[in-house]
Amino acid sequence: MIAVVVTSASSLPVIWHEAYEVDIGPHVFPTTKYRLVRDRLLAEGTIEIRDILRPEPAADDAVALVHTTEYVQKMKTGALTLEEQLVLEVPFSPALREAALLCAGGSILAGRLALERGIAVHLGGGFHHAFPDHGEGFCLINDVAIAVRALAQEGAIRRAVVIDCDVHHGNGTAAIFARDPTVFTFSIHQEHNYPAWKPPSDLDVGLEDGTGDAEYLGVLETHVPSIVARHRPDLACYLAGADPYEQDQLGGLGLTLEGLRRRDELVFELLGRAGVPVAVALAGGYARRLADTVEIHCGTVRAAKRQLLN
Ligand SMILES: [Zn+2]
Repeated sequence: MIAVVVTSASSLPVIWHEAYEVDIGPHVFPTTKYRLVRDRLLAEGTIEIRDILRPEPAADDAVALVHTTEYVQKMKTGALTLEEQLVLEVPFSPALREAALLCAGGSILAGRLALERGIAVHLGGGFHHAFPDHGEGFCLINDVAIAVRALAQEGAIRRAVVIDCDVHHGNGTAAIFARDPTVFTFSIHQEHNYPAWKPPSDLDVGLEDGTGDAEYLGVLETHVPSIVARHRPDLACYLAGADPYEQDQLGGLGLTLEGLRRRDELVFELLGRAGVPVAVALAGGYARRLADTVEIHCGTVRAAKRQLLN
């Protein structure tokens, strides 16, 4: 565990590591976005260098709280079968494994800092398609699930909610916590999109193609307060996917940039009103223009900062 020193009460804890930018060749997943988001936030003054914390890789025993021994061993030795690599949809490499482990460490750190400070943002993470025994859909290991389990294991939390606003259903997360009453999983996503098989979350809202801002925000306003009131979580993990955006290449919802800004504000406001600390992960984002993906993620961080200063 690393020592955490946050210098100012008004600073937003932000977690990032340069190794998140893995070379995966020509690909729809822009791993450059993590650095671009960080650089933009620094340039505009939303964050300062001292706000940025570098995670350690998640320890083996933390990973083992979610993933099977057999799968962890396969990752360690790079012995993924061709079929497993096809399902993963990104080329496996030692650099990808290192990034995934750092990312899990980053989500653990984000959770811990959220508990201390009320809100913390991981400029990475949200790999919600990873299952205990395999990775899929660009997700090698499920960083948010590892964070929830690790924080529960160390006694920092007892109950958690996962609010998954990525455009794709949080299938891995749903499967991992299916029989765990301490973790409530909520996924709001495009129904007719990847993944084909959607194991049930505690609450799934599958939206029709092209759903716009008003309906989307209405769903959050309807469900988030009651989820929090009923489940009484010690921590919320918010997957602030940029891919519900109308210009996303892998999404088919109709949210505007303004709608996504309002989504982030609404989530933070509803959780803040209920006094629930929130750890943010960026999750997906594949806009036709990379600049739009970066803008949406930066918007999430700006909204988090405003919430902190409120
Ligand atoms: Zn996604």
